[in-house]
Amino acid sequence: MPGRNEGADAHRQRVRHADMCRPAQGTADSVEVKQQRHEAQLLPGLSDGRSISYCPTCSAPLGGSTRELLAALRASESRFRAAFADAGIGMALIDSDDRIIEVNPAFAAMIGHEVPDLVRTHIHDIIDPEENHRLHYLELVRGERDRLRVEKRLKHSDGRAVWSNVTISLIRDGSGHPLYTLAMVEDVTEQRLLGDRLAYQALHDPLTRLPNRTLFFERLNAAFMPVDGEAPPEARGTADLKHESGPGTGPGLLGGAATVTAEPRGADGRRARRVGLCYVDLDGFAAINETLGHHVGDQLLVAVAARLERAFSRDTERLVARLGGDEFAVLVADSASSEQLTSLAAELISALEQPFDIAGQQLVVTASVGVVERPVHDTTPTDLLKDADATLYWSKADGRARWTLYDPDRGAHQLTRQRLATALRPALERGEFTVEYQPLVGLADGAVHGAEALVRWRHPRYGTLSPDRFIPLAEESGAIVPLGKWVLEESCRQAQRWLAEFPDTEIFVSVNLAARQIWDSDVVADVAQVLENTGLPPRLLQLEITESAVLGPGGRPVQALQALADMGVRIAIDDFGTGYSNLAYLSRLPVHVLKLDGSFIEGFRDPAPGGRPDNRCRRADADEQIVGAMVQLAHALGLSVTAEGIENASQAERLRLTGCDTAQGWYFAKPGGAERVAAILRAGRVG
Ligand code: C2E
Ligand code: MG
Ligand code: MG
Repeated sequence: MPGRNEGADAHRQRVRHADMCRPAQGTADSVEVKQQRHEAQLLPGLSDGRSISYCPTCSAPLGGSTRELLAALRASESRFRAAFADAGIGMALIDSDDRIIEVNPAFAAMIGHEVPDLVRTHIHDIIDPEENHRLHYLELVRGERDRLRVEKRLKHSDGRAVWSNVTISLIRDGSGHPLYTLAMVEDVTEQRLLGDRLAYQALHDPLTRLPNRTLFFERLNAAFMPVDGEAPPEARGTADLKHESGPGTGPGLLGGAATVTAEPRGADGRRARRVGLCYVDLDGFAAINETLGHHVGDQLLVAVAARLERAFSRDTERLVARLGGDEFAVLVADSASSEQLTSLAAELISALEQPFDIAGQQLVVTASVGVVERPVHDTTPTDLLKDADATLYWSKADGRARWTLYDPDRGAHQLTRQRLATALRPALERGEFTVEYQPLVGLADGAVHGAEALVRWRHPRYGTLSPDRFIPLAEESGAIVPLGKWVLEESCRQAQRWLAEFPDTEIFVSVNLAARQIWDSDVVADVAQVLENTGLPPRLLQLEITESAVLGPGGRPVQALQALADMGVRIAIDDFGTGYSNLAYLSRLPVHVLKLDGSFIEGFRDPAPGGRPDNRCRRADADEQIVGAMVQLAHALGLSVTAEGIENASQAERLRLTGCDTAQGWYFAKPGGAERVAAILRAGRVG
């Protein structure tokens, strides 16, 4: 029979239960609101038509007489026990000291134990503790959260790892204080291994098992990511993965695995991080494939890969990858210097030189290696790879079985013409051009009479570029007009300074004029303006033009030359002997000087001592006679002659004997800064 206070008891039970059984209703509600909502959900008992109520959230019996409640509780408990014992999912009840109170057979079987062995076991004996999960777990134990889902690695009794999804729920006592936790554990090892296998396959080459292009590009891009405290890169290119990605892979597949450690810092506290790459290609691999068959070729690749991996993937900052075919790469994400990379390349080559035992025969292969090494902030993954590719090609072109370090000058030569051409005008505005001067020496008196102005491009990335690299591009794009004008003004200003410092010597400056400057600009007005701006007397300016520039159709160049000559400027025909060499025509133009091309002078050597003259000597004799005849003819036409490319005393002496007037070449002085010319003038002699 229900007692007098049954209504009050039932209410107390309800309130207490509502406090204990905290359904996930959101945390913003006050305790009262939660209780009201919880009580509103309590259902009238259905079992015997009397007064037992059940919690809709946890199905606990909540009302009725003590006997009825006890019976209902026992029934509920045995249902729970049966569910606990028979569940296919692993379950464990854990106390506040992290010791297992109860565990079900499924859980014990999952980690290779018997149920009794696990009772009182500390959970860290079977679960790898992890700091980030630990924090959340402590929140749960303190009652600050009710549930936690984590992926955990359990230790199986045979030592292997069991991957599991674990849901941990907090169980509270009658007054709501945390009591136990209930862990429900699902074995996901199979899925996890499958995922790992797929990730491995996506990132590794199936033949050699080396990291593939995708992984290589991930690591390469990661090497460019800013490390802690470093400014993020500005609009850096990342290596293009579009064509390289395997199915189902994305750049984030490795997560944070490929981070780069901070380097030691220099005295200024900011030592630049560097990155290096050796791009390896086997020489003659196609021939091995064709003559011995693909089967042998494949085995060779496997053996090469194994040797490279064993010798060169020493630490996490180095990656040996197969980029495809017979191409491999060693990426050094924290390179110290170019020397480190070139000695690595040398080691690579000698490691591969040792014969391979393949299919009962000894195979000898060599490899070519392209090496690029530079500060991270100076490059992008795309450029690094592109330059490594170019450098590998140079190694092949230079004879294979060698390494080649990236050479900016050679690289610039191969840069797309478009790229350099578009960079020309902005470079002029940024002041990246300089002028060097090479003395023009009188052969009769050995004195410096003038100096040729030769432009250089101090490219911030490719170093100093010689005019052969960019003058043709500047001519094509028309940038030669402003560039040529700048050189003219710079050179005239310099000549005026020499004149001020050495008024007696009166040395002239000889400036190259491109055909397009004559055709496309008002060169006469420009020269006049520059002479006026700089104050240089016109007689101290010589303009060098090639024969082909004046031989074009129409009268414009001739008129321009005439106007310039009328101004008092001297005109020289540059590289004479390489074009039409039409002296008769040239003599009708206002031309004052012939500059004989260096190729004539090359043949000027000492005759073979004693003995019969050999072919070379005969050729030298012929050159000498031609030059002699040209000098005589030029003199007869009123022109003076300058010889280019004089590299030794013998050439200088023989030219002097032919009657050549002035000469220019490394024998006297290489092109250099204006100060070098001044130093020569001060010393009073060249050399
Ligand atoms: P160029 O006018 O015939 O200049 C002579 C070239 O021969 C220079 O090359 C010079 O450095 C090089 N040379 C001098 N002595 C020797 C020697 O003893 N042996 C050898 N093998 N070479 C020697 P650079 O400075 O590379 O200039 C190449 C060409 O670029 C010039 O040939 C000229 O045609 C053009 N160039 C240079 N500066 C300018 C410029 O301001 N405007 C224009 N339009 N063209 C320029
Ligand atoms: Mg010249
Ligand atoms: Mg020349």
